[in-house]
Amino acid sequence: MAAPSGAATAPARIHADRAAGTLEIDWRDDHRTSYDAVTLRWLCPCAFCRGEAGLPGWLDSAPELTSEQTRLVDMQLVGQYAIAPTWGDGHHTGYYSFATLRDMCPCDQCTERRSSEGRATIGRPDHAGHAGDSRPEAGDDR
Ligand SMILES: [Zn+2]
Ligand SMILES: [Zn+2]
Repeated sequence: MAAPSGAATAPARIHADRAAGTLEIDWRDDHRTSYDAVTLRWLCPCAFCRGEAGLPGWLDSAPELTSEQTRLVDMQLVGQYAIAPTWGDGHHTGYYSFATLRDMCPCDQCTERRSSEGRATIGRPDHAGHAGDSRPEAGDDR
């Protein structure tokens, strides 16, 4: 299956339920994506969380997220292409593009697609098999 595009990344309906801490998106191709706040927080694409210029981000250190840090307090639409959640700790710099949200959809079908493409599942970074290519290829670890 090809990477999602077109109707697959166009939201027909977006529903953020702050009380339940969930984000639901219905796509134009009739697929439904549902994120819980914790999963969404781990996906934060901002430079602080993800790192930049080859440097690891805050989430790469596998921090213990507090309930404040995973509490969805607001959700802004960013143009036609992304949403920016605000979290209980005031963090709001992550712009989640619809393409990313669809691509990282946690449903069984999409998880299957990602694993068939050899891509990691979402969630906490896996320290054992960290796939960072910033590490130099070392052949002299003795
Ligand atoms: Zn962030
Ligand atoms: Zn899905």
